[in-house]
Amino acid sequence: MASAFFRNRRVLWMPFEVDWSPEQAIRAHCCPAMASALLFQCDQHADPFECGDSLVVYNAVFDEYGLIVHDGGTTYVLIDSCPWCGLKLPQSQRDQWFDEIKALDLPADMRPPSHYLSDDWRLPPIRKGR
Ligand SMILES: [Zn+2]
Ligand SMILES: [Zn+2]
Repeated sequence: MASAFFRNRRVLWMPFEVDWSPEQAIRAHCCPAMASALLFQCDQHADPFECGDSLVVYNAVFDEYGLIVHDGGTTYVLIDSCPWCGLKLPQSQRDQWFDEIKALDLPADMRPPSHYLSDDWRLPPIRKGR
């Protein structure tokens, strides 16, 4: 029963349709091994969840890292520190995101405002350096 493993740590990529994009991998990460694992792209799969060679994902919306569960879905197991260099990774903002979305009190079928579907909701524009 694969789904029983790491039940508390296993999360879905996103509750809304936000596709993984290479842009999410291009940022400062803890070490070159993590950066290259995130930037890894094979010829056959654009989506890391579909590629058996992909190991890790970074979710910019929640600022969290995970080990991909290759079961055909888009789940991953959250990690607190880097498997390669051992550095502590950022605290996931997932809970805060859900709290803020809940506070918006949106109709059930309505998507959150677009800045909640990127890292804009948690980063002041000045820190993003765009
Ligand atoms: Zn592949
Ligand atoms: Zn690292």
